[in-house]
Order: sequence, then C-alpha cells, then structure tokens
Amino acid sequence: MAASRTFSIIKPDATRRNLTGAINSKIEESGLRIVAQRRIHMSREQAKAFYAVHAERPFYNDLVDFMTSGPVVVQVLEGEKAVTAYRKIMGATNPADAADGTIRKLFAESIEANSVHGSDSDNNAAIEIAHFFKEDDIVG
Ligand code: ADP
Ligand code: MG
Repeated sequence: MAASRTFSIIKPDATRRNLTGAINSKIEESGLRIVAQRRIHMSREQAKAFYAVHAERPFYNDLVDFMTSGPVVVQVLEGEKAVTAYRKIMGATNPADAADGTIRKLFAESIEANSVHGSDSDNNAAIEIAHFFKEDDIVG
C-alpha cells in the first residue's frame, strides 16, 4: 500500500522538558518516518490560523497562548495510513483517557499541554503540512 503523510507538532510542554528525542523515538519505533522537521517559535498569527477551526471553543485563547509559549517542532510523518497510525500512538486528547504506551499517556501534562498534535484526516494533513512546509522541504 502507498505511503501517506500526516502533520505533527511536538508542543511547547514537551520541548521545554527536552522530550523531542524521546517522542521521535516513539514515532520511529511505530514505523512512521520523519520526512521533514523544523524547530520554530510560532507567532500568534500562525497559532491562531492553525487552530482557526477551534476559534469558537472556550479554550481557544489559552491554546494560542500555550502554543506560542515556547518552541515547537513541526514535522511531516510518512507511512502506511499515516494519519490513523499517528493518532493511535499519540493517544486520546486528555492524557487521563489515553491508552498505556501512547505518547500522551507517557508524556502529556494535561488536556491542553498534551505534548503532540496530529492531523485528524488526510485532507487536513495536506492543509496543515502546507502551513509550514514547501514540497521541496519534504524528503521521503
Ligand atoms: P486533538 O489534538 O486530540 O486532535 P482537538 O483537536 O479536539 O484534540 O483539540 C486541539 C487541542 O486543543 C488539543 O490537543 C489540546 O491541546 C487543546 N484542547 C482540547 N480540548 C481542550 C480542553 N477541553 N481544554 C483545554 N484545551 C483543550
Ligand atoms: Mg485535532
């Protein structure tokens, strides 16, 4: 089966605790490949645009504050059914509900500071990747 892509962010709670390598190990152990990666400090404009679908949610402003509170690592992951595969190893949004062995169960601090983002559909993966990467920057 052809490989597909998903978009990942290692969030500020994780970069602050020096967990980039530990999270990348979980990603690679699962068989997903990191085919693009960059450490950035998101501007408020970038964070607001990225999370625009949540603009009406009560946690939106706090989420923008959190995502701009420190560096993040934006990534493109490639593998078989990459979106579903990554959601599975990320675990549930709330770490209290996340399955054992998942990234959020292992590392997340709270429902907000939950260490990683992963796209929820192939369509959104393509849109999210295009927010941060040019096709030339993705080397599979
Ligand atoms: P996911 O990241 O699992 O796809 P959502 O898309 O629903 O979850 O939410 C986006 C992000 O917003 C979450 O990863 C988390 O950082 C934050 N968030 C979600 N729900 C809440 C909540 N109830 N309170 C605070 N922050 C939240
Ligand atoms: Mg989501």
